[in-house]
Amino acid sequence: MKPIYEPKGAAKEYGDYALNIYTGCPHRCYYCFAPSVLHRQRDVFYNHVEPRKNIVEETRRQIEREGITGKLIHLCFTCDPYPTGYDTTPTREIIKAVKDSGNNVQILTKGDGTRDFDLLDSGDWYGVTLDGTSSKHRRDNYYLIEDLYKAQALGIKTWVSFEPVVNAGGIIKYLRLVAPIIDKVKIGKLNYHPSNIDWATFGRMIERNCRELDVDYYIKESLRAEMNKGR
Ligand code: SF4
Repeated sequence: MKPIYEPKGAAKEYGDYALNIYTGCPHRCYYCFAPSVLHRQRDVFYNHVEPRKNIVEETRRQIEREGITGKLIHLCFTCDPYPTGYDTTPTREIIKAVKDSGNNVQILTKGDGTRDFDLLDSGDWYGVTLDGTSSKHRRDNYYLIEDLYKAQALGIKTWVSFEPVVNAGGIIKYLRLVAPIIDKVKIGKLNYHPSNIDWATFGRMIERNCRELDVDYYIKESLRAEMNKGR
């Protein structure tokens, strides 16, 4: 088993290395692509959440075997590293394994990762996804933003993923809220689902806002392509 892998395609825009800790995710985002990637029924993915078999031991073994060091490892693509309502000790153990070997983590969550802030430092990234909506199945946006404040105060690098974008107006509002406390933002669109958002207009608007607010931003290729159409 090789828990640490190099993502391909659009996922690569999030990081050179990634690791998925759990088999499912209780956050129930309707747009979640993970069940199709994992060939798992949506209900099973949402309801059966457990650490992947021997994930901590296998991660330690792979790091040692391959001498992995000095890398930034993204947690996670096909699950959330902090599944709400579940014991997240495996995530803590994975972070320890990654950091003990001279690597760093790039966390992305819609849950609560604050318990692990004591393990992180200025080489690590703590990020949250703000899609412009709220849901009772995951941590409220207000708390996700609070968590960014706490991380920033501790000297941990902070970032926000605006992907997928469900509510374009909500995203601009959130960008203005988080701009003073984030080191980077990545912006995409809503893939694999119909949407009436005018992506070219949204992309140009958010890019203008990022520049005005002096935020380090990255526009994902899928959104950039829409912005370039007809130019
Ligand atoms: S938080 Fe991520 S992995 Fe979990 S259901 Fe939502 S999109 Fe899927």
